[in-house]
Amino acid sequence: MDTAHDADVLIAGAGVAGLSCGAALAEAGLKVWVLERDALPGGRAASWPDLVTGDVVDIGPHVLTSEHRNFRALLRRLGTEGDVYWQRQPLITLLDAGRRIAIPTSRLPPPLHGLPALPRALRCISLRDMLSNLPVVWHAARLDEDATLALDGIDAMRHLRQLGASERSIEWFWTSAAMALLNVPLQQCSAAALMRVYRVIQGRSGYCFGFPRVPLASLYVPGCRARIEAAGGRVLLRTPVARVHVESGRFRALELEDGSLLRAPAAVLALPPQAYRQDLLNVPWPALSHAAHRFDPAPYVSVYLWLDRPITRERFWARAWATRDLHTDFYVLSNFRRQTHGTLLACNSIHVRLAWDWSDEEIVQRTLQEVADFAPLAAQARVLHARVHRIPMAVPCPAPGTERARLPAATPFAGLWLAGDWTRTALPSSMESAARSGALAAEAAAASFGRTLQISLPTPETTGLMALLRRLPVPPGNQPGLT
Ligand SMILES: Cc1cc2nc3c(=O)[nH]c(=O)nc-3n(C[C@H](O)[C@H](O)[C@H](O)COP(=O)(O)OP(=O)(O)OC[C@H]3O[C@@H](n4cnc5c(N)ncnc54)[C@H](O)[C@@H]3O)c2cc1C
Repeated sequence: MDTAHDADVLIAGAGVAGLSCGAALAEAGLKVWVLERDALPGGRAASWPDLVTGDVVDIGPHVLTSEHRNFRALLRRLGTEGDVYWQRQPLITLLDAGRRIAIPTSRLPPPLHGLPALPRALRCISLRDMLSNLPVVWHAARLDEDATLALDGIDAMRHLRQLGASERSIEWFWTSAAMALLNVPLQQCSAAALMRVYRVIQGRSGYCFGFPRVPLASLYVPGCRARIEAAGGRVLLRTPVARVHVESGRFRALELEDGSLLRAPAAVLALPPQAYRQDLLNVPWPALSHAAHRFDPAPYVSVYLWLDRPITRERFWARAWATRDLHTDFYVLSNFRRQTHGTLLACNSIHVRLAWDWSDEEIVQRTLQEVADFAPLAAQARVLHARVHRIPMAVPCPAPGTERARLPAATPFAGLWLAGDWTRTALPSSMESAARSGALAAEAAAASFGRTLQISLPTPETTGLMALLRRLPVPPGNQPGLT
């Protein structure tokens, strides 16, 4: 049964990727219909009002980085970039074995930008352990995208050991880095994924974190929606796409759960990899099935606590990774969000396994203890209210083999494109990757209507001495991932 509509482009999924793609196509004058399964837009970056307090909470706390270029460009176009609070100093405060360590950020040219952090790091690991990472720095600095992808077959732990990183530096730095940057334990992380993101961090200065001063979804959902609707398009909620119809190598229609068919000249599928597990397409596409099964979900538990008093002036801190701990990153939202009072605190438990089955009470109790380890006043505070969000799929795990499984925006079928944080953006799964994928898919779809859109920004490149090192070839004998 065909449903009448006048959309030029249909988009499945109203997360960052789908909405940013839709807004860009609308800005190019195209009519877009976005079809979203859930009752709320925003996907894994959604926000909603807490029923008890009325405060709007996010699915879980999110940070932007200074390198979220495409996401920031989207916010600039929508006029909401000013709603992000940027923490210039310190980069991060780390709680390590009971010690607070403020790691500074620096604008010195790379690799000198690491120097201000050195004395702090030397309180935690020896100079010898630190120097054991020089071969990693040397190796990562010279990787290009092809050499990076060649590392995808092995796990990051093995790669670091092959390069000579000491066990203590692996335990202290690399394990936390893999969890914080890629949401996955080191031994389950693709060496390609870790080296790519590390190369950027060691090769660029002035890195800092940004926190939304408003509910996360307010940064982009209303603005994208307004642009789509102003161009005559629609965002339809509770509208799951059940089947994608391709005929004779060309996209034809999206079928909804009630059997109705929406035909259109073009479509963008902006869905997470798991959405493709049940033969969503009516034709075989082995590469898509492979990717859908390759990416395991990284589950998160995010906790929101409303406390009766202020407990710290700090906005954000992290715990050095330890298997016995629950959470890694902590955000005192009431210290940078406009609407809250008392203390509203949020934290993330990344790649959580054991605590998934704990009761809410157990999780809240443990969370409070971990907060008090950093901010002792929390031990005297009364919990006015708490929310525990269990998120089965926060990001797709970047396990060995997944970097090569990521698919580009172009599909083998005319009129059909892919977007989503997991697609081939050369970025870790994040809002930035989702925004870049949305921009790439929008550019390609607009071109099929003869419209020129140039909005995607390239991934960050190394600067300073690290950029010079990049010009040196990686000698074949110095490619441990290939052995
Ligand atoms: C707790 C948490 C913390 C995070 N922290 C950070 C962070 O600090 N910084 C950062 O950059 N990123 C972070 N991320 C990751 C970031 O949120 C995601 O990478 C990004 O939002 C993914 O956007 P997307 O559009 O690719 O996918 P999604 O947000 O998953 O959007 C896909 C949409 O498709 C819909 N859908 C699925 N199936 C169908 C169907 N059949 N028909 C129609 N619609 C369908 C879904 O409901 C969803 O709305 C975090 C994620 C979580 C959950």
